[in-house]
Amino acid sequence: MDLSAKHVVIVGGGFAGVGCALELARSGKVRVTLIDRNNHHQFQPLFYQLATSALAPGDVAFSLRKIFRKWPGVDIKQAEVNSVDPKSRTVGTEQGQTYQGDFLVLAAGARANFFNTPGAEANTFPLYALADAERLRSRILALFEDADRDPKLIDQGALNFVIVGGGATGCEIAGGLADMIHSTVTAEYEDLAVNAARIYLVERGTILLAPFSTRAHEYASRVLQHDGVILKLNTAVNEVHPGHVVLSDGNSIKTRCVVWGAGLKAAAIAASAGLPQGRGGRINVQPDLTVEGFPGLYALGDFANIVGSSGNPLPQLGSVALQSGRWAAKNILADIAEKPRTAFHYHDKGIMAMIGRNAAIAEVGERRHELEGAIAYAMWLGVHVALLTGLQVKIETFVEWGWDYFSKGRGPQLIDRSDAARIDWQDDDKDEETPERA
Ligand SMILES: Cc1cc2nc3c(=O)[nH]c(=O)nc-3n(C[C@H](O)[C@H](O)[C@H](O)COP(=O)(O)OP(=O)(O)OC[C@H]3O[C@@H](n4cnc5c(N)ncnc54)[C@H](O)[C@@H]3O)c2cc1C
Repeated sequence: MDLSAKHVVIVGGGFAGVGCALELARSGKVRVTLIDRNNHHQFQPLFYQLATSALAPGDVAFSLRKIFRKWPGVDIKQAEVNSVDPKSRTVGTEQGQTYQGDFLVLAAGARANFFNTPGAEANTFPLYALADAERLRSRILALFEDADRDPKLIDQGALNFVIVGGGATGCEIAGGLADMIHSTVTAEYEDLAVNAARIYLVERGTILLAPFSTRAHEYASRVLQHDGVILKLNTAVNEVHPGHVVLSDGNSIKTRCVVWGAGLKAAAIAASAGLPQGRGGRINVQPDLTVEGFPGLYALGDFANIVGSSGNPLPQLGSVALQSGRWAAKNILADIAEKPRTAFHYHDKGIMAMIGRNAAIAEVGERRHELEGAIAYAMWLGVHVALLTGLQVKIETFVEWGWDYFSKGRGPQLIDRSDAARIDWQDDDKDEETPERA
């Protein structure tokens, strides 16, 4: 490694951080230190399939050291960044080290936004990290085991699943869970009254998949209801207790599994960095992806508020993150070559969501051609394969599971997170009827 080369410190090994580091590594002109709290890159679009036992952890997370094995100019550090000094482009870690760069790239992603809902942080399962998906899988499986052993627990809500938020994450987990209940659980739990299971999808607004077209809203509602999901639109979750949720319509639902898919905000270090923040606490960036007043400081992906060509902020998507990472690398190299930085242009490939096995919705390209069903599923697969290959991750597993999923295979059904699986059935402060089970 050429120690005289310019040094780029990148925080976050997600789509944005890895995309940026790979582009810089290929140039051979800089040293990169890539810091992440995990030793892996995580592929969030597939978390719902891990949570519903359709995939294994190794299918949705990939070793960072392996991704960069061929690039000696990239040094991986597993550490929790807990301070940022934008002026000196230095970050400090919980473990006690500091890293200073000629350039600093902040790509720490997002975390759940609970919107100050009482009890939500303590009593729900968000889905933003590999560990979240593993915990949720363990909780779902543990509930079926508990109810199988003691059917009286069904009256305490053992088989009620509440999903908060009718966006892509909420619809995907609702569809995946319905699929798991209809296929695996029905086939494997002979004594259990599986038909007592209820999946509630609670959405504050009047439609599902708000960023999509009217046709997509209707398609998602139709598919999910066909699969037995109970939609509660125009309804908010106002409180979350260990054993029930309270809804804005005054009803409550007994449940031991609340999935939080209702919103995002920037990762924690955004709040303490002393940088300008926009919606969701994301760091405001200029068109060239640098932060105003700090020419060597970039913010990318879900961590940043990047304004698109329409004047609106770009959505939190893997493709936005990956493309912003690559663009930032080009601007860093331009800086080093004393050439002008250029304004980021997002190449919009469209938006898509999986709603269940063989059921997906895709709006492709900037003109938003609408596709649904198996063809949209294939499109989803293609776009996500492209994201993975962009990160140099081998795609064999992905294609394998794609086929497996299509042909009704199932991943490991392991309860391996005892913290999430151990349920204290006495621990609730209210006892109300579940509205839908009469
Ligand atoms: C459940 C779910 C489903 C999704 N489905 C899709 C989809 O189908 N298609 C799509 O395009 N997008 C999807 N997205 C969005 C997409 O995954 C994100 O937009 C994308 O991951 C953002 O990339 P990023 O690099 O900005 O952040 P991330 O991928 O979140 O990476 C941030 C990294 O920073 C690390 N980090 C954070 N804080 C610290 C710290 N203090 N110290 C050290 N490391 C830190 C994290 O460990 C993480 O590795 C989905 C997201 C979720 C949660």
